[in-house]
Amino acid sequence: METTFYQELTTISLSGELLSDATCEKLLTASEIELLPLLNAAYQVRKTYFQNEVQLHILNNAQNGYCPEDCHYCAQASSATTDIEAYPLKPDAEILAEAERAYQSGAYRYCIVMSGRGPSPKRVSHLAKLIRTVKARYPIEVCLSAGLIDVDAAGILKEAGLDRLNHNLNTSEAHYPKICSTHSYQDRMDTLQAAQRVGLACCSGVIVGMGEETVDLIRVAKELRHLEVASLPVNFFLPISGTRLAEMPTLTPDYCLRVLCLYRFLNPRAEIRVAAGREHHFRSMEVMALYPANSMFIDGYLNAEGSTASRTLQMIRDAGFTIQTNGDDVEHLKRRETEKRDVLLKELKVLRPRMES
Ligand code: SF4
Repeated sequence: METTFYQELTTISLSGELLSDATCEKLLTASEIELLPLLNAAYQVRKTYFQNEVQLHILNNAQNGYCPEDCHYCAQASSATTDIEAYPLKPDAEILAEAERAYQSGAYRYCIVMSGRGPSPKRVSHLAKLIRTVKARYPIEVCLSAGLIDVDAAGILKEAGLDRLNHNLNTSEAHYPKICSTHSYQDRMDTLQAAQRVGLACCSGVIVGMGEETVDLIRVAKELRHLEVASLPVNFFLPISGTRLAEMPTLTPDYCLRVLCLYRFLNPRAEIRVAAGREHHFRSMEVMALYPANSMFIDGYLNAEGSTASRTLQMIRDAGFTIQTNGDDVEHLKRRETEKRDVLLKELKVLRPRMES
């Protein structure tokens, strides 16, 4: 493919024009489109709005399990047989202690996530109080993911100081009935619109690898562009045993990177997060995700483990990116040493394996 093709992708994205569906499809599937120039084209867009900075998020799974919904990808779903440690909403002290840990770890944003269809009015008041306390104690952004909410609830949370409300579209409207039967795509859209009506910034994204077609991924990317979401997590489906989608195949790093580039071209100003599944699907190519994406989780996901915080920080620094922080008190981050590992010497049984038998 000519160099001008890749340059045009950057130019179109930066000028606010929309790539055609045919071009989007090609980016995901055509072998003549090479990965490195594609990543560079997406990086030019990322650099324009976010320079070389990376925003780090930390998740607090504040309530695990007990969910009546049947999202087929989720270990907490009523339909899942996964052996998870279910617990009701954590006590305030625990949630506040984890907010402090998030701040100390260098997280830009603290994401409080809870299972369930949506919060009751009593739960909304409780969450509002918690959000007020976190915001008063730490210079950290707070994002909440609490299921379906209406305008009244969104207004109370906004008033309490919530920075963002997370509610992922997950997949296209056409594919939605294949991943959930207890609520609809429109229910999710209504929640996002309720948040937008009260002026709450929205975080909403996608899960790649749930049996969808490329056209579904393109539709979601364009829908999220239309919604002008501030934050866009791109998750790569983690096949957790016991969930209804557990048999889905592993994705290739090449495909995952192409998806991130596509989302960057279509949502040039959004904070794009390479979210759940980066370790599992990108494998040795994980660091390349930083060229289209400008955000990631520091150490793990809701029910699945991820990288350690020190490894994530080291990967970012090794690639020449910097960590975006909230406050002035970032010395603890700067002081963090690069992990030093001793060089281990091979033992004789490794050097001369036949001598052992
Ligand atoms: S994704 Fe949320 S609503 Fe769906 S089953 Fe899991 S916890 Fe429940």
